[in-house]
Amino acid sequence: MPYRVTVPDREYFDRNIPCRTACPIHTECGRYVQAIGISRDEEAYLLARAPNPFVYVLGRICAHPCEDACRRGKIDEPIAICALKRYATDRHNLGMGHDPARKSLPAAPKRGKRIAIVGAGVCGLTCAHDLALLGYSVEVFESAPVPGGMLYLGIPHFRLPREIIKMEVDSILALGVTLHTRATLGRDLTLSELRSKFDAVLLATGLNKGRELSIPGAHLDGVFNGIDFLINVNLGYEVKLGRNVVVVGGGNVAVDVARSALRLVQEPAWNSGAAESGAESLQPALDAARMALRTGAEQVRLVSLESRGQMPAWKTEVVEAEHEGLIVENGWGPREITGENRGVAGLRVRRCLSVFDEDGRFNPAYSNEEKVIPCDSVILAIGQQADLSFLGGEKSIEVTSRGTLKIGADLMTTAPGVFAGGDVAFGPRILVEAVANGHRAARSIHVYLSGKTSKTVLSRFRVFDHWRMPRGYLTTPRQTMPVLPTNRRIGIAEVELGFDEAQGRAEGRRCLQCQVNTIFDGSKCILCNGCVDICPEHCLRLVDLAQIRGDSSYDALIMNRFGVTARELPQGKVSAIIKDEEKCVRCALCAERCPTGAITMEALEQQEREVFE
Ligand SMILES: Cc1cc2nc3c(=O)[nH]c(=O)nc-3n(C[C@H](O)[C@H](O)[C@H](O)COP(=O)(O)OP(=O)(O)OC[C@H]3O[C@@H](n4cnc5c(N)ncnc54)[C@H](O)[C@@H]3O)c2cc1C
Repeated sequence: MPYRVTVPDREYFDRNIPCRTACPIHTECGRYVQAIGISRDEEAYLLARAPNPFVYVLGRICAHPCEDACRRGKIDEPIAICALKRYATDRHNLGMGHDPARKSLPAAPKRGKRIAIVGAGVCGLTCAHDLALLGYSVEVFESAPVPGGMLYLGIPHFRLPREIIKMEVDSILALGVTLHTRATLGRDLTLSELRSKFDAVLLATGLNKGRELSIPGAHLDGVFNGIDFLINVNLGYEVKLGRNVVVVGGGNVAVDVARSALRLVQEPAWNSGAAESGAESLQPALDAARMALRTGAEQVRLVSLESRGQMPAWKTEVVEAEHEGLIVENGWGPREITGENRGVAGLRVRRCLSVFDEDGRFNPAYSNEEKVIPCDSVILAIGQQADLSFLGGEKSIEVTSRGTLKIGADLMTTAPGVFAGGDVAFGPRILVEAVANGHRAARSIHVYLSGKTSKTVLSRFRVFDHWRMPRGYLTTPRQTMPVLPTNRRIGIAEVELGFDEAQGRAEGRRCLQCQVNTIFDGSKCILCNGCVDICPEHCLRLVDLAQIRGDSSYDALIMNRFGVTARELPQGKVSAIIKDEEKCVRCALCAERCPTGAITMEALEQQEREVFE
């Protein structure tokens, strides 16, 4: 569409692009969604990829704060932004492993400075990616035998195929990053060694210790910790659960644990190192798991303190888990693990009346009602914490009362040149925040070592001569993610299948295109009321500026737009449209209808780019 460049109020636009604002890495969600709607798949991929070296991964398992903020959700259901990111990566990657966007990234001249990153999770690897592109020599030290952090160690195969993780990690390593696996800080190397050999260090060690529950019987054989369980299963080690399993917890980790347990056998022969040897060798796993469903542990219960509505786990995951056979028991708290011959015999639970007290603090209240759930094993998935044993006697790095590393705004710890990011610095978060932290850490390390300051450069605004929303955008319902039939959900088989082309296009066209907005030039308005009459959503009200002069909530807006206060604007000559932004569906009928051209449709299209000076 033709456009001319203008400079409207950026903050106004920002406020009105809630998906972008909610995304910790400010992905141009709306723009890639819309590009898919008009069959520009490559453009969609590039927009989604720009701020995100883990775009394939996050297209599958992002916690998508953008969707919670999406304005379409106020009308019917939010745009399936995450599923569309996956769609863009699926289309881009029809030939797996081919990623021209990454290969074309220019390598910066080498700076002769060395950075050590501890932890090859999403935070550490994003930081490695950025620093390699800035010309640093980066070495990553990872205690696990494989890189990826919780992507590999925590998140099950059936939500995130391993070849996707491998592809993302390989593209980062291809930038010249050196990876040392089975290298544990505190055991194989020390912090003081790293500090003496490297110019800066990033600690991105995540939260890999499960929280414990001090109830009688917690020491019995058959009691597992959720994170340990997942790490073992995902690394291909044998875990014997027996036939009846109870998982304690109401969050996403608990659901991942329960769904993984549902796929396990009593004696899973496939759990013998398959995960380390690549995708092909996982085929026997599939077959063994198939057998498992016929012969193995079948009853998995999830016991959650919270009521169904209060459970922190994603609703879709709980529903899918139930389809797979999980029994969810809400409103029960663990009281005792009962035992026979040192092994687990059951879990005694008591009725939970409320989880939080009047001040919103976690403080469960119980009634006297109790029951025992017979089981062979209990898996506790009630939260994670950082293992900071690598600090040893290191006094220079302070730890917060929450057991995380203390950091400043630039992510530097209390030790100069040692930075921290991701879950070890902020507590349990989500992947896209770990990506954001990785970027931030890289920026801070570069600023620290180069003495330069960084600033973000914004791009352009557009004014459209004509603006049309796609046909039927308001009546199309949210597309449903196709999933594997439950009788095929065994072993590593991925459950979500991704949108097909028709679904992708239809979903992309549902976007309300919040980056486009109605901009009103009051000096041209003749107060005809045409825009107000034609608005299908009744979201416009036309007033003379005199009517809003006394209202200070408009002061900043007028100052931003015109550079003067409302009182300084010419009396009786200026009118204003008061618009309910929540309701506007960007149909552009007001702009079409306006006889004087006082209303234009304008768009903010911005790419944040770091410039170091
Ligand atoms: C089971 C589970 C499921 C999840 N599902 C989702 C989801 O669907 N969507 C979402 O957005 N978020 C999800 N999360 C949260 C997300 O995984 C984390 O927020 C994210 O992984 C944090 O990234 P990180 O890089 O800080 O740490 P991690 O991913 O934990 O990586 C830390 C790395 O450091 C390594 N390490 C630790 N100690 C040492 C040491 N001493 N020496 C060397 N290396 C060390 C670890 O082995 C690990 O590889 C999930 C978390 C879990 C546990």
